[in-house]
Amino acid sequence: MQPVDTELLRAINRYRVLDAIRRFAPLSRADICKQTGLGRTTVTDIITALSEEGVVGNAPEGSARGRGRPVEKLQINPDAAFVIGALVAVHQLSIVVTNLRADPLASVNIPIRTTRHPAETVAYMLEDGIKAAVDQANLNLSQIAGVGVGIPGFIDAAHGISHWSPALGAEPIGFAEMLQKQMGTPVVIENDANMAALAERWFGHGQDTDNFILVTIEGGIGMGLFIHGDLFSGQHGMAAEFGHMKMDLNGPLCRCGQHGCLEAYAGYYAIVREARKVIDLPPTTDEVSIERTAHEVAKRARAGDARLLKIFRDAGETLGLGIANLINVIDPGKVIITGGGVRTADLIAPAVRQTVEAYSVKALRGKCEIVFHDWSDEVLARGAAALVLQGLYRNPWSRSTAIAVAV
Ligand SMILES: [Zn+2]
Repeated sequence: MQPVDTELLRAINRYRVLDAIRRFAPLSRADICKQTGLGRTTVTDIITALSEEGVVGNAPEGSARGRGRPVEKLQINPDAAFVIGALVAVHQLSIVVTNLRADPLASVNIPIRTTRHPAETVAYMLEDGIKAAVDQANLNLSQIAGVGVGIPGFIDAAHGISHWSPALGAEPIGFAEMLQKQMGTPVVIENDANMAALAERWFGHGQDTDNFILVTIEGGIGMGLFIHGDLFSGQHGMAAEFGHMKMDLNGPLCRCGQHGCLEAYAGYYAIVREARKVIDLPPTTDEVSIERTAHEVAKRARAGDARLLKIFRDAGETLGLGIANLINVIDPGKVIITGGGVRTADLIAPAVRQTVEAYSVKALRGKCEIVFHDWSDEVLARGAAALVLQGLYRNPWSRSTAIAVAV
């Protein structure tokens, strides 16, 4: 039998208690036991430690019943720590400052085509944006416990490395360390779809479902996977590359160099490639112009061009087939579809829903809710803040180690 790792167990229990208070506060100790399934002694020990650290405190009274002493209710002390969440997208940097409850305090957006700049320049611009946002929130950089950054592409979160990213380039780059050295503040990075899944878990459609799949439609197709209430990142931190699920071995060429990947049917570049076969379109030079052109194609499809409507329907069908396969493997409570491509939901959603219905195994049909959810980059940056908070929630208040042990 494996020895019980008490440190790990303590971190997990601490996280469960803090997460329950964050989600359902104000809570009494008895409520916390009920929400977490933990015993009274464990909960009392954790609450005592959290109170000493100043992380939780008493909620204002007002819940007294009858003549007895009012039951003490607890809440998170929002000002116990502040963090930064940022999103590096191909067209802009979004930065949000939040408190310990992930309430946004200030935000800054910098329009910049990250594809045109080396990663060092992107890191410097991010630093400038972070300083401006911290200033706007009336805080100092020394009060920031950590920075979380969401980045599209193949991101090794455990080692802080971007292996390939449309925003940071095709070479492996230690972006977390680069930014951390510049800022002198702990930095964690994560794939943007994982971060969007975390945002859904903390503030969106994933709050009431422990097992859910998030799919992002952008230049490529991304995915974040929550299993038993936790982000699943795989053995090497690179799980859930749904965009490269093979739909046909003789299918179109994907950006990854292989054939028949899902995103080669449903990503922006696939829409543009197919549309070029039937209408004239201006040349596209980078991710941003491909995205703009895909939305132009959508506009012309809506104007009634049947050939273009079919392109979106076909893309929706392939996406639906991929999602049906996922549902059959994972049995999630929800599939949340998000990203800029959701702006074309009117054109793809019917085909997605029909195909999911047709190809899910019979026993699961109709049981998994499909939600299309459009979010701003700013809200997604808040997901990156949640990434840092998740690390803080798990570890006692030595902030630098809290982030290093992380997430
Ligand atoms: Zn591929």
